[in-house]
Amino acid sequence: MNHLCMNLRRCTLPGLLAWAGLLQVPPAWANESALANPMRRAAPAQAHPAAPASAAASAPAGAEPPPIINIRSAVAKQIREAIEQSNAANGKKKPPVAVAVGAKAAPASANGTAPASSVKGHAAPAEAKAKARVSSGHALAAAHEPHAAAHWSYEGETGPQAWGQLQPAFNLCAIGKRQSPIHIEESSTLLGPAEPLQISYLPSKGSVTNNGHTIQVDLQGENTLTVRGSTYKLVQFHFHHPAEERLNYKGFAMVAHLVHQNAQGQLAVLAVLFDPGEASAMIQKVWTHMPLDMGDRVNLPDGLIDLNETLPKDMRYYQFIGSLTTPPCTEGVLWLVLRQPMSLSREQLALFSRLFPNNARPTQPSFGRVVREAQ
Ligand SMILES: [Zn+2]
Repeated sequence: MNHLCMNLRRCTLPGLLAWAGLLQVPPAWANESALANPMRRAAPAQAHPAAPASAAASAPAGAEPPPIINIRSAVAKQIREAIEQSNAANGKKKPPVAVAVGAKAAPASANGTAPASSVKGHAAPAEAKAKARVSSGHALAAAHEPHAAAHWSYEGETGPQAWGQLQPAFNLCAIGKRQSPIHIEESSTLLGPAEPLQISYLPSKGSVTNNGHTIQVDLQGENTLTVRGSTYKLVQFHFHHPAEERLNYKGFAMVAHLVHQNAQGQLAVLAVLFDPGEASAMIQKVWTHMPLDMGDRVNLPDGLIDLNETLPKDMRYYQFIGSLTTPPCTEGVLWLVLRQPMSLSREQLALFSRLFPNNARPTQPSFGRVVREAQ
């Protein structure tokens, strides 16, 4: 439960609003971590005491059920109206195309991230060695199957600084030397040689869910990414606001993490950054079907999601080995961060930030990692 609202009798107004805003009971499963949690199969029967619980279940015995439903409904109604207004602004209901929505972008949001970590320039061990097996390979099943684990969040006592202590399985969050996200500073990256990403994305079907930490789209279909001699299949994508990555001291309003997995269970995450500006057609489609309640899942029309439309023209990227940015912070994840940001409208950003005011892990120390810039 949200730390602002640990006990319904002592609920603060912000806590109650956060609760009503669907932020109150982040489930134990994560975005990336649903794919690669070593504990997932270890002890399925051991539900953590902080496992997802309804407000009623965690309220003191005999307590009156709070009038949350009405508040939640009101928020849901406002969000629906915001989506409808946003769609109306785009002039149509079907695949909204990118439409300029007013004001030229103000400086990108850069709040919520920690001071930039220094990126040391000295050589590090070959990154290939760090690429470890990180998942059991049951990605699709895992992506749909919540598991019980310690409650974690992006603020307060269960925030990023505490993740490593919440349970032993989250150890790497505190002591890992290949943690993500990182601040990428161009002056200290190792240049090329270039290896273009081979991406094959097709219109796909899938479903969108609010897992309590982010909005996530689980995809079906043959969407693949080939790099470093391995082909990874796109499993899901999700969003962080503000973007977790920083490039040359610049923050971004949002990032989409496209999570791929190869036959060996290794993960490759393609990060697409967003600045405020014109509306994103892809985001509009996802927001239009956005679940309004935690755990809710909405099926998307067949072929609706075509991620080609969210890739920049300039496909140069930064490549490095990192980790999941959510507990258990498993390492050995291949990160591919596209340099050129895309854009989303202020309305699109406002809608997400209302649900998730800050779901970005602060940048982590580089520990001399090699960051390759593919040209
Ligand atoms: Zn992510």
